[in-house]
Parts: sequence; structure tokens; C-alpha cells
Amino acid sequence: MLYGEAALRAYRGTGTGLGAYLDLAEKQGAQIVLPIAAGSPPSGLVEDKAYAHITDAICEAAARGGFDGILLDLHGAMVTESLEDGEGEFLKRLRAIDPKTPIAVSLDMHANLYDAIIANATVVTGYRTYPHIDTYETAKLAGEILLRAIRGEVKPVMAWGNAPMLPHVMRQGTDDHPNKELQHRCVAMSAEGALAASLFTGFPHADITNAGLSAVVVTDGDLKLAEELRDELLGRAWVEREAFVYRIEPLQQSVARAKAMSPRQPGDGPIVLLDHYDNCASGGTMDTTAVLAEILRQGLEDVAAFAIYDPAAVEQAIAAGIGGTVTLSIGGKIKMPAIPGESPPLTVTGTIKTISNGRYKNRGPMAQGVAMDMGAAVVLDTGPAEIVLISRHVEPSDLNCLSSLGIDPLQKRYVMLKSRIHWRAGLGSMAKAVVECAGVGVCTSDYGQLKFDRVRRPIFPLDLPNR
Ligand SMILES: [Zn+2]
Repeated sequence: MLYGEAALRAYRGTGTGLGAYLDLAEKQGAQIVLPIAAGSPPSGLVEDKAYAHITDAICEAAARGGFDGILLDLHGAMVTESLEDGEGEFLKRLRAIDPKTPIAVSLDMHANLYDAIIANATVVTGYRTYPHIDTYETAKLAGEILLRAIRGEVKPVMAWGNAPMLPHVMRQGTDDHPNKELQHRCVAMSAEGALAASLFTGFPHADITNAGLSAVVVTDGDLKLAEELRDELLGRAWVEREAFVYRIEPLQQSVARAKAMSPRQPGDGPIVLLDHYDNCASGGTMDTTAVLAEILRQGLEDVAAFAIYDPAAVEQAIAAGIGGTVTLSIGGKIKMPAIPGESPPLTVTGTIKTISNGRYKNRGPMAQGVAMDMGAAVVLDTGPAEIVLISRHVEPSDLNCLSSLGIDPLQKRYVMLKSRIHWRAGLGSMAKAVVECAGVGVCTSDYGQLKFDRVRRPIFPLDLPNR
């Protein structure tokens, strides 16, 4: 977590939502108060103590008063030990402290919307891209609408709603049908009277009442128009619900298909093997080894793998030193009681090629300029594969996670990535082919063996047949 000046220094000039707010405020010659900047990849519930610490910092600043506007770069799917709508409850509290100052909120496309989020904000906008390469633009839009509202040029009103559907994260990419067309429609709505129109594909893994697809439309005082455009977005998404269902190929078959692909030609990029069920930005531990084990078992060669989370193995590798030969038992150390099936460690022998402090800055286009930290990291060269071992969770969404470790993906036949969609931001354009590899915690049906206890029912595709 960063506070005050340190937060300003870290985010000023970056391609983030916070970066956009700072640019806007500075252009206005505004005095800026930035109480706190904090983020985390999703995992278990946010501890109540951490939630209180983060929100208190903002609420205490608001209580001091004297602000013309409040600009918040939130995610929208925060579940705490006590609250299923972390952001909504926070906004409610903020509104109670300061009932008058307009509040702009920019949200992730994976937000799960609640009444409290919309009721306690002046304007809400959401990303239109996944991979999220428009975080800056999303906050800029929210901030610009807020500035117009402060000047009395517009009176934002919002209509929101959700559809009873849980789009699978693997089918949410905005390069793909149907989210591509849905997001284009959101953009087009600004020519039809919307100040902003956002469709949230939602974060199903949160398993809370309002998990799933939702939409919010902001207009200048015209609630009826906002409702009509919202209904159109939800209706269009519902019609396309079947296209949001993900179908799994058995792991052995995926890896065999990758192995059989035509040999590497000069100028070819890598074949990307997506270990997408272990994406840390979807709550994965990055310590499952099923996909990597299958890649090695089938004898694929010239592989780079990013990454296995295993701080203990990293320490052992560092002790062996550059060029040292080690046999390590990697991954398989984190218990995942909610997911049936084994996640055993994998034993590998190789030489240590790289040792790094794991720090790099994003090249972009996603979160450009943001400092990243994968903790102490090593590259273990087993011959057929260069395996990255890390000590902090980072999704490989930026080329620099590999290049900072001396791995050039363009020189590899295969690159295994623990990612779902975000890898496309930094590495998508160089991939020769993509093979989706289903790892631990899945079976042949859409949502596999995951249990849904709290999400509103009935909901597609868990209950509602597509007819
Ligand atoms: Zn997201």
C-alpha cells in the first residue's frame, strides 16, 4: 500500500485509472489529496482489518472536507470477510460522511454491480477492453463527466441492471464474439445521448448474489433513455449467452495438438500454451503443475514457462547460484480445499540460468509504467524447458515479465503462460498459435467442479437451459 506523496509518485504518468485522475486534476490546477493506493490479485476474502484500513484512509480524508470532487479508481468485485459488496458499502459510508461532493467511480469489466455502488456515486464507468488496456480512458471518461457536472454543464443520472447469466472468463475477451460487439455498442451509445455506457461481464468466481453480467448507462438527466439503453445492452447480452459458455478440451489432447503443430519457421512467434485455470488474476495459486507436467511428459521442447509460485524452491535455487545444478520439487504446496482433485508438486532437475529480484516496469499497453514485483525469481533450465519460479503472484500480461529474466519469447517454440486473456495485451501479437490447456480443478462441463452457493438462482448456465 502506498500513501500520499509516495502514491502520487508511483502513479503519476502511468497508464492507469489513477494516472488519468491525476492528469485531469493537475490540468485543472486542482489541489490533490491522495490518501491511499492499494491493489491485490484476487484470492480469498479480503480481511476485515485490511478493508477497514484502506477505506478508513479515504473516509478520514473525506471527513476533513473542502473537496470539489472525489475520484475513485475501484475494481467492483471486492468481497470481504463480512461484506459481499465491498465497494458499495464503502461508497455508502463515504456518501454518509459527505452527502454533497460529486463522486466519480471507474470500475473493472469484472465488477459485480450492486445498488449501493450506483446509488452512492455520481457517475460510474467501466472498462471496454479485456485485456484491460483502457483503464486510463475509463477513469478519464468518469473524471471528465464529473468535471462537467461540477461546472453545472450536465446532471448525470444512471440506470443499471443485471442479467441472470455468468459469462465464463475465458469467453469474455473483447477481441472475441460476443463481447467485442457488445462493447462496440457501448461506445456507439455515446452518439445516442449516453454520457457513458458500460457492460460488465462480471467475475463469476466471487460467488456472491450479484456475480455475473450487468450494465450501467449514464445520461444527462434523461433517466428513461438511460433505462432504454441499459435494457438494450442486457437484452443483447442475454441473446448471446450461449457464446459465453466455455467448452474444455482434455489436457492430454491439447498438449498433443500443440506438439503436432508444424515446425518453427524463421520469423515465427511462439505457440502459446495457456494454463488458464491457474491464472492468479482469476484467483489461481500459480502453484499447480498439471499443465507443465503434461508438457514435459509429452516431450515438448524449446519451452519457456511463466511461472510456478514457489518461494521455497526459489530460495533453494538461489543457494545453488548461477550455473548450479539443482533438483527441485516445485509447486503443489498450497491446499485448495474448494477444488477437488490432486495438485501434486513436480520434480525437475536443471541449471540456474537467471536470478532476479523480480522487479520490472510494465512496457504496456496494459498498466504501462506501473512497477511490478514478482518477488525473488529464478529461471531453471531443464534442457527442454526454461521454468520461471517466482515468490509473488504476477499474471504474465506484459512482455517485461519475461524479458526482465532474459527470456525472449520470440526465440521459443512454446511459451506456457498462467493467464486467461490478459497475456494478449503484451504477447498476443507475437503468438503463432494459442492452445488452451485445462489444468487442475476442472472437468468436462463449463464450470467444472466449482461450487456456487451464494449467487442468485436460477442463473445461466448453471440452471437455465439455452432455449
Ligand atoms: Zn478485470
